[in-house]
Amino acid sequence: MHYISTRGNVGQIGFIDAFLMGLADDGGLLVPGEIPVISADKLKEWEKLSYQELLLEIFSYYTNDEIPQDDLKAMVKASYATFRDAEVTPVRKLNDRLYLLELFHGPTFAFKDIALQFMGQFYSYVSTRHSKTIHILGATSGDTGASAIEGVRGKEGIKICILHPHQKVSKVQELQMTTVQDENVLNLSVHGNFDDCQRIIKDLFADVEFKERNHLCAINSINFVRILAQTVYYFYAYFQVRQQAGDQEINFSVPTGNFGDIFAGYLAKRMGLPVNKLILATNENNILERFIKEGVYKPGQFRSTYSPSMDIQVASNFERYLYYILGENAEAVSSLMAQFKAAGEIVIAPELLSRVQAEFAAHGVEGQECLDTIKKYYASNSYLLDPHSACGVAAAEACGESGVTISLATAHPAKFDEAIRLCGIEQQYPEPIAQLFQKPQRQTVVDGSAEDITRELVQFYNRG
Ligand SMILES: *Cc1c(COP(=O)(O)O)cnc(C)c1O
Repeated sequence: MHYISTRGNVGQIGFIDAFLMGLADDGGLLVPGEIPVISADKLKEWEKLSYQELLLEIFSYYTNDEIPQDDLKAMVKASYATFRDAEVTPVRKLNDRLYLLELFHGPTFAFKDIALQFMGQFYSYVSTRHSKTIHILGATSGDTGASAIEGVRGKEGIKICILHPHQKVSKVQELQMTTVQDENVLNLSVHGNFDDCQRIIKDLFADVEFKERNHLCAINSINFVRILAQTVYYFYAYFQVRQQAGDQEINFSVPTGNFGDIFAGYLAKRMGLPVNKLILATNENNILERFIKEGVYKPGQFRSTYSPSMDIQVASNFERYLYYILGENAEAVSSLMAQFKAAGEIVIAPELLSRVQAEFAAHGVEGQECLDTIKKYYASNSYLLDPHSACGVAAAEACGESGVTISLATAHPAKFDEAIRLCGIEQQYPEPIAQLFQKPQRQTVVDGSAEDITRELVQFYNRG
């Protein structure tokens, strides 16, 4: 297995190099040279595996034999030992047509832990075994930052800098990032929104000379390893629900921001997992909903919502999907992305749109609809959804696809108490979250200029 860029100018690199490269050096995104297709017999065998065993099976198709099996096993074991549920990602039945896939049992109570606990172990491994200096740089709408920091805090040979939009993350998200006291962690609180943060780091990664000089590594979903780690729970949940739902069709509903998590679902589908529809759930930042419904990809006005981790207009991973719907044609991707840069929008042909709609449905959830969904399931099932998971559930209901739907519960409600209170619901914080309020915070507030941020970064990375 080798990796190539969606824009065609990075050729045939290995798994560890793809992991370290993050954003492809030609400005595109890395994808596997060929997606392995898993036979129905193999899938049948996989039904009985534990989460960790399943991960090892899936990864075996992608790692290019670059990691000795025992080393990979040890990393996987350590990654998921921090989870509060033995199943890692348990599935819960809400009613005959709707299941929830709980992805928030990791240390920071959001689904980002699933990939980032593993990536933390993997960076540490590469730093020790391959004597690499690892300087992680990432942008966060709230959850990735906390999770990535948790994955590498205090680790030898690794430094991490995270940009988050100043006062546009929830209180708990902010505390999770800024109460970490380890010297290898820098939090930059940027005046601006998530798209500004993401653009700044994408520009820094695109400057290949700067990137190499400063040993920059990516933890955002531009990193293919993160996507790959997230495919595992699609397989795992599918097998769990298949046992209960018999021969009914199975859909997934995915609260979406950067098109990362749902792209992992798309990858699972292309690997042969017989998923019916992928339901794309957004909030009022609904550029992706409009793409699925109308074939027009055009960022609009940024809106702050009850689900801040999905407050994103420019979805980084969208380019990976474009690559596949354009028939793995890197030249076509390059010219569309150039056109996007010039004109600010992408419009796809009607025959392509009908192919998109054969695989995806979409629904943009309004604020009140989100809160109403939280209240409804609290009343009917005594189940408290967080606002992101509520978007997934509301979209599953609105799209009404046949069969059963597995809706991804991407965060624990304690992370978003602002929205829960608006529903008139009082919740009790789990102990690790309650403790955060007692701890001192450390962060540097910066304006949105690239110069300011670059200066802070370089100072931090060069500090002894
Ligand atoms: C990051 C995040 C999302 C969106 O995931 P993408 O991979 O960006 O699509 C949804 N819900 C929560 C809670 C998140 O933290």
